[in-house]
Amino acid sequence: MTTAAAGSPRTYQVRTYGCQMNVHDSERISGLLEQAGYVRAAEADEQPDVVVFNTCAVRENADNRLYGNLGHLRPVKDKHPGMQIAVGGCLAQKDRGEIVRKAPWVDVVFGTHNIGSLPVLLERARHNAAAEVEILESLDVFPSTLPTRRESTYAGWVSISVGCNNTCTFCIVPSLRGKEKDRRPGDILSEVRALVDEGVLEVTLLGQNVNSYGVAFGDAGEPNRKRSGGRSAFAELLRACGDIEGLERVRFTSPHPKDFTDDVIAAMAETPNVCHSLHMPLQSGSDDVLRAMRRSYRSEKYLGIIEKVRAAMPDAAITTDIIVGFPGETDADFEKTLDVVREARFSSAFTFQYSKRPGTPAATMDGQLPKQVVQERYERLISCVEEITWAENKKLVGETVEVLVAVGEGRKDERTGRMSGRARDGRLIHFATGSLAGQIRPGDIVHTTVTYAAPHHLNADGEPLSHRRTRAGDAAEAGRAPRTPGVLLGLPTLGAPAAAPAPAGGCAAH
Ligand code: SF4
Repeated sequence: MTTAAAGSPRTYQVRTYGCQMNVHDSERISGLLEQAGYVRAAEADEQPDVVVFNTCAVRENADNRLYGNLGHLRPVKDKHPGMQIAVGGCLAQKDRGEIVRKAPWVDVVFGTHNIGSLPVLLERARHNAAAEVEILESLDVFPSTLPTRRESTYAGWVSISVGCNNTCTFCIVPSLRGKEKDRRPGDILSEVRALVDEGVLEVTLLGQNVNSYGVAFGDAGEPNRKRSGGRSAFAELLRACGDIEGLERVRFTSPHPKDFTDDVIAAMAETPNVCHSLHMPLQSGSDDVLRAMRRSYRSEKYLGIIEKVRAAMPDAAITTDIIVGFPGETDADFEKTLDVVREARFSSAFTFQYSKRPGTPAATMDGQLPKQVVQERYERLISCVEEITWAENKKLVGETVEVLVAVGEGRKDERTGRMSGRARDGRLIHFATGSLAGQIRPGDIVHTTVTYAAPHHLNADGEPLSHRRTRAGDAAEAGRAPRTPGVLLGLPTLGAPAAAPAPAGGCAAH
């Protein structure tokens, strides 16, 4: 087994790069390693027995950074016989054997489709004293069937699909994570229930394009629900989450405007535990740029969805992703993006400067823009976004908010004596604990009144109006993290039993 020479269990550390999908994959990697007998290395441990890099391929220079990090580890490994280094994730799927050619001190390379093989590959590499490279072209086991060590006591990710059928020209996901594969509703709901049984209050349903969820399996999902076809599967999934007792907040990411249907808006509005927050990537407000990005909605359709969301849920907080400086983007195109931003009145936006992602069609397109043009547009976009988010946040001063208390959301909390968490609409709240200081735990629920608005957060500096102790708070206090075993969940039954792709990677843009 995985026991060090001295008889103590081998320690591991996972270093994660990229998006929420990767963060969730890292929870699975930790769960797998712990099931195999490894224990997590202490934060300060500079020589864990196993270091796993869960990589992301979407950032510029991602590979330089990886090889730089691997280079730093080489002398550590030389001084620590028996140490192993594993590289997984999107960059591993892309670079494959190249990784051990460039960094021969790496022990294991595994891809996005075979996370479950990691413990075996580590053992095999140790036994054979040779590097193991295993990359599969399609999904071996649906990732959510793997044991998972959850990082949070109060919130959990649940994958509903992996891969993506779209072909956005800036995105590497389709080539690295494969075609979309949806998980059966019954399996998803079992995982959600398992999390809630462990005290989790909030679940985020994850997929590269949640709106296309279920299209491929049509009417064959949950037998006891009236179904109006595969197109409505995601709305039905949201409604089914509404039936889970103890589940207080349901979120999802990311929807694609192309496939967004009215039934999802109705399900959001009518299911009490579904939060009125929507993260819907815009990418560009110019129809010409959207066409070049091969995103098949247009700005009018995008704004139409927002209008309907606001009509159904006036309190909805809408957030987005925007790329500036896509190849061929003109000043006029960029102005159109600003127009949509002003009209949509986002509560927050993740803004990205376009950078070439090797392997994507956009990387070789004509019309790549000089850095300085992109930078100038980027700065204008940020100031436009901030003006709006600040104005929107100011409207909430004096309102009561429900805060799910979080860990690590308030960098200044220690100094200011506040705690932090998220409101139901996803806004970040820093709140004073008042006479409840020392009694509120991460995972508890607090009601408080907003007293100040900044562009990226709200403060609530009065005495909290109420505090509810929760099971998630008990678990946080006891230092218990939820674990989902991964054996109760079936494989998706689309296509062959050992089928397609793993979760989406590193793509801040869908
Ligand atoms: S950007 Fe999103 S929708 Fe487009 S191909 Fe990538 S994952 Fe799919």
